[in-house]
Amino acid sequence: MAKGQTPGNDVIMPLRIFHNGATFDHAAAQSPFAHLGTRDRDNPAHRFDYPGKAFTLLCAARELQEYVASAPRGEGVQSPLQPITMVGSSRYASESELLKIHSTAYLQALKEAATVSRARVEAGQDPFIEFGREADVTPGTYDAARHSVGTAFDAIDAVLQSQQTSTFALVWPPGHHAEPDRAMGFCYLSTAALAAAYAQDHRVQVRPGQPNRVVIIDIDHHRGNGTANGIRGKNGLFLVDMTYRSPYDEVSNRYLDEVREYPYTRDDAALGISKHPVCSAPNILSLEFDGFQKTTTVLDAFVATALPFVRSINPDIVLWSLGLDAAKGDPLGGLGLLPSAYYTLIKGMRLALPHARHCGVLEGGYDPRISGRCLKPALMALHDDPGDVRSRLFAQYHEAFLA
Ligand SMILES: [Zn+2]
Repeated sequence: MAKGQTPGNDVIMPLRIFHNGATFDHAAAQSPFAHLGTRDRDNPAHRFDYPGKAFTLLCAARELQEYVASAPRGEGVQSPLQPITMVGSSRYASESELLKIHSTAYLQALKEAATVSRARVEAGQDPFIEFGREADVTPGTYDAARHSVGTAFDAIDAVLQSQQTSTFALVWPPGHHAEPDRAMGFCYLSTAALAAAYAQDHRVQVRPGQPNRVVIIDIDHHRGNGTANGIRGKNGLFLVDMTYRSPYDEVSNRYLDEVREYPYTRDDAALGISKHPVCSAPNILSLEFDGFQKTTTVLDAFVATALPFVRSINPDIVLWSLGLDAAKGDPLGGLGLLPSAYYTLIKGMRLALPHARHCGVLEGGYDPRISGRCLKPALMALHDDPGDVRSRLFAQYHEAFLA
């Protein structure tokens, strides 16, 4: 295939970023009726996940957009960059769409919690309701989560209904810990699993007469337990879950069962904690790392294990469940990825799967500065022509992804 071409497209289309920024802009962040994030129980003045954090990432994406717009282009310029487009989504997933993964009872409980929180605000009381494990509900939580899912649906539509080959959904709140019947880890609705199911049953079929095949690649530091439980055993939906493995729950001071596992960052080996059974299924590949890693260790394992698994599936759509907390230095994660690792993984898979559409969905990331530094190369990897080599680290793995 000629450089710059994908099947059915004469040229690589520039990246389109969909966002639900209306949910987390400054005005929303200051409204007591918004989704306010999740509070740190040990330090109630501090929030783990909050609108301002998401807004910082939206600003980082806008900086990248400006950089790309000002890059030199024209005759003789190597790899001229096409503009990046940003689209504010106004779409909210409907309840019937959410029922593909979540239960009626769970959705009802989530809505009711938001209603109770609203009444508390109106009565001048504390709005934070401990709804799930590290997942507080405030008045706007249900709608904000539906907005995240709707925005991801817009990103899926764009890669299926147009010549767009890659898109990104910059959304908040995140979703990959939300299970069919419970909220956890700042997540309320299982955005990646819902987007994958939506893509699978989309009226636009990449291979006419066949449901679309979707692989979710979760590169968040933590296990995508919600995504895994949402798609476990479902035909045509697959998950590669890259995760730091810790079997120990610091909160309950005990080992977790395999379904609910939700790792933390403590150095387990130093604590003398042994390993726990792997959370897996035939359509799920858990790519686990014991403790913090060098970037090349993670990439080597990905190339050796995940790449052949994804190649064997030959997906129509790759859905990146993009956790920026796998970056070195993240306060709640920190598996050890350098920013260029995000570029290398995404770019490499675009190169390895020239027929696939790629769509990203934002998950965790808890130091806005570090997260912003990793978001930009991830977006550039979705934006670039797959043939370009812009990173020294990617150059090391270029041949492995092509092979
Ligand atoms: Zn995470």
